[in-house]
Amino acid sequence: MTIVIAGAGIGGLTAALSLHAVGFRNISVYDRVDALRPLGVGINLLPHAVRELTELGLGSRLAALGTAPETLAYYNRHGQLIWSEPRGVAAGYRWPQLSVHRGALQMELLAAVRERLGRGTVRLGHRLVDADANGGARFTTAEGTVDVAAELVIGADGIHSALRRRRRPDEGPPVSNGLVLWRGTARAPGFLDGRTMIMAGDAEQKFVAYPLGDRVNVIAERRTAGSAEHEANWNRAVAAGPIVELFGQWQFPWLDVPGLIGACDEILEYPMVDRDPLSRWTFGRTTLLGDAAHPMYPNGSNGASQAVLDARTLAFHLATAQSVEAALTAYENDRRPATTALVRSNRSQGPEQVMVLAHERAPEGFDDIHDVIGAEELGAIATAYKRAAGFHPDELNTRASLTPPNIREQL
Ligand SMILES: Cc1cc2nc3c(=O)[nH]c(=O)nc-3n(C[C@H](O)[C@H](O)[C@H](O)COP(=O)(O)OP(=O)(O)OC[C@H]3O[C@@H](n4cnc5c(N)ncnc54)[C@H](O)[C@@H]3O)c2cc1C
Repeated sequence: MTIVIAGAGIGGLTAALSLHAVGFRNISVYDRVDALRPLGVGINLLPHAVRELTELGLGSRLAALGTAPETLAYYNRHGQLIWSEPRGVAAGYRWPQLSVHRGALQMELLAAVRERLGRGTVRLGHRLVDADANGGARFTTAEGTVDVAAELVIGADGIHSALRRRRRPDEGPPVSNGLVLWRGTARAPGFLDGRTMIMAGDAEQKFVAYPLGDRVNVIAERRTAGSAEHEANWNRAVAAGPIVELFGQWQFPWLDVPGLIGACDEILEYPMVDRDPLSRWTFGRTTLLGDAAHPMYPNGSNGASQAVLDARTLAFHLATAQSVEAALTAYENDRRPATTALVRSNRSQGPEQVMVLAHERAPEGFDDIHDVIGAEELGAIATAYKRAAGFHPDELNTRASLTPPNIREQL
């Protein structure tokens, strides 16, 4: 079967590797950019995604690339601890959580695609403009329009997906909730035990930091009238000064937040945007994957992980179903309801609800968090999100592999 993937991001490249691993050989990946560069800052691969990438034979390459956080801790805007939980192997998972540089991960996946599928697999400078429900894709290039024959077209072309726009021309731009995110990395001393990812603040203003190799990854977030109007462009650099000022009071005994923001080499601004879940991803021999299918707010650190799960699930069904149509239906049945629930959960803060509750109930802080929120309520919020996102340790550790049985036997 000839398979065309539009988009060489985390989702598209993982789809290519997953399809190749189950036996497909005629796969091409097209990206609109002329050169793939390691763009972005840190992202988190949760244990469910690390499992899939490990089963694709990339475990040691990933481990070399990432930093494994062992604790996730939530604080209020005064730096007081609300909730803390072990992560990755420390939480009993068979796979770690990994904080990785998005661009470094993309380059590693690209290298693996080129090694396994051949150098010519990824074709750059091709912008998808349309795909036929019977298969076949149309691209524009510097030389003009190119039609590519295919029996399956996968739109992994991100939050501004052209394939999604063809299917839902009335949808318009991504939806903003009025928050703006500023991301960067700083060469700075570690904080706490050097293995902890922290989130501090509430629904209006928030700060996230975690170790990323020899750097600290930083995300600052604030509701800001006006700026959220900016187009969702991942590469928009802004000055650090005004953001340092916004967080001027956030001096915690264990972390100098404004100092860390000021130490970032570059700050990238991005509005907090997602899209309303779709009632359908598949039209004939075309389907959507990753952010093209279900862009979500980053609360819960799930965007890249869900794209990896899509890719592996799609390959599993294409390898095991009776027909391409049946495979696409099974893929959508597995992944669309699950990601729809996550998009909605992330709109109501996902696991970060604990910070919102603490702020609502004790805006000036507390002596003991359990006077404000009971341990049971805190634990229930964390557990509910893990189940919704498919990474509760009991379920993840025991669920069947997405590598089809006949392929597993050959390994
Ligand atoms: C440049 C960039 C930087 C990012 N930085 C961060 C970050 O710092 N932190 C974070 O949490 N998330 C970041 N993201 C988003 C994150 O990578 C995704 O949310 C997640 O990994 C899901 O990936 P995806 O493959 O579905 O989409 P994406 O990673 O967005 O990849 C989509 C790919 O499709 C290509 N494409 C788009 N339109 C077309 C078209 N019409 N035809 C062909 N190709 C097309 C794009 O060039 C891109 O390579 C970034 C995305 C991009 C593109």
